Amino acid sequence: MKKFSLLTLSVLSLVLLFSVFRTFSVKSYQTKIEPVPEKNLPIEAAVSRLSAGIRFKTVSSLSDTDANSNEFLLLNEHIRKSYPSIESKLKKTKVSNFSFFYEWQGKNPNLKPILLCAHTDVVDVDPSTASLWTRKPFGGEIQDGFVWGRGAWDDKSSVFAILESIEILIKRGHVPERSIFIAIGQDEETIYGKLGAKAITEIFKKKNIRFEYVLDEGQVIAEGLIPGIEKPIALIGIAGKGYLSLGLEVDLKEGGHSSMPPQETAIGILSSGLSQMEKNPFPLSLGDVQKTTFQWLAPEMKFGSRWIMSNLWLFGPILKSRLSEKNSTRAQLHTTSAITKISGGFKDNVLPAKAEATVNFRILQGDSHRGVLDRTEKILNDERIRLISPDTIFEPSPISSVDSIGFETIRRSIQETIPDVIVAPALVSAYTDSLHYGAVADNAYRFFPVRVKPDDVKRFHGIDERISISNYEEMIRFYLRLILNSSN
Ligand SMILES: [Zn+2]
Repeated sequence: MKKFSLLTLSVLSLVLLFSVFRTFSVKSYQTKIEPVPEKNLPIEAAVSRLSAGIRFKTVSSLSDTDANSNEFLLLNEHIRKSYPSIESKLKKTKVSNFSFFYEWQGKNPNLKPILLCAHTDVVDVDPSTASLWTRKPFGGEIQDGFVWGRGAWDDKSSVFAILESIEILIKRGHVPERSIFIAIGQDEETIYGKLGAKAITEIFKKKNIRFEYVLDEGQVIAEGLIPGIEKPIALIGIAGKGYLSLGLEVDLKEGGHSSMPPQETAIGILSSGLSQMEKNPFPLSLGDVQKTTFQWLAPEMKFGSRWIMSNLWLFGPILKSRLSEKNSTRAQLHTTSAITKISGGFKDNVLPAKAEATVNFRILQGDSHRGVLDRTEKILNDERIRLISPDTIFEPSPISSVDSIGFETIRRSIQETIPDVIVAPALVSAYTDSLHYGAVADNAYRFFPVRVKPDDVKRFHGIDERISISNYEEMIRFYLRLILNSSN
């Protein structure tokens, strides 16, 4: 017994010693790059152009010709007038009714071009929360140091900041070494990007244009969102989860009178299937992207968190269980499934023959559409529930390199813009247009430099969306640096 305890004790101390050694031996991934000052940015005029852009109610739509189209036309006209140098010097290609891309020809045809992208459509304002906005959702008001309104973040700030930076550089006489493409889509928020990103990508494919990298919205600058690090953290999205809205249908082919019901109804069969799915979520794991994120963040943390993050071989299970406590962090650990629609029945005394539901999956790297179908079939284990795959499925994206020209350029441009920032690669759980554009690029990165504090997270697609004027200035400076740094 004594021997055993001695052995356990020595093994434990070895494990402890090794983990502490590892904690102090992990090297920092941060590089020392000083911010580059940028004077004479026309920020007031830039802010008023963004504010005017927010006032067009370009709510996302699957159609090119519905009642909303006038708002898109007016916004595009506003963009055309706001950036005369871009309009006169860059080649513009119109796609669908309201999407377009510019090509800024580079000097060196041997260098692959890069693609900056953004979207002009926005999600609508939820009527049940409209009265909770403290500013008009489509007012574009400039107050208290912020520009307020839908699109101030997602994603009109990107559209305008990218164009501001290019307009400035053209006026200064800059000509890039590498060609720069800017793609502006009209329907990112519909999820499928059919008229925008998808249609533009098809054109690039036909013309055999392949990009060194694409930069799209996605991850942000997190401030106080990651415990253990006080400095702002610029998370560069290196992978995006896949997207699948699966239909579930029970069709018994016959209804009947509710006074003589069968033992199981269409609604009952479907409900118990859905309940089985909720009881059997996809298993949680720390994937390659998450491990990379922790590897980059660990050396920047205080001892406790650093010890845990540097020793995933030992603390992985504890970390996993901590991360699984919050919906936002649990979503990073597995393929999620959410029941988003259900319908069946039309009258209180009639048995419906049919019941339908939609389950939305966000597929993590390592899983696939096929895998999701197989697993769902197994869990349902009921032939009466039919699975219907939609026409458009997005498999999870490949993981983009952290040792590429693109990653290096983005990282450098962030550090030249944001003082005292930490940079780390990360996963993006939400759909973005890059799931299309990624097909024509060697690497796809998902990052825009909006600063997000814990209280701000709910502003995405939520109430009181806004961007601070100083943050908007940083966005313009970031794209400016990015274009200047893209010359090699
Ligand atoms: Zn967006």
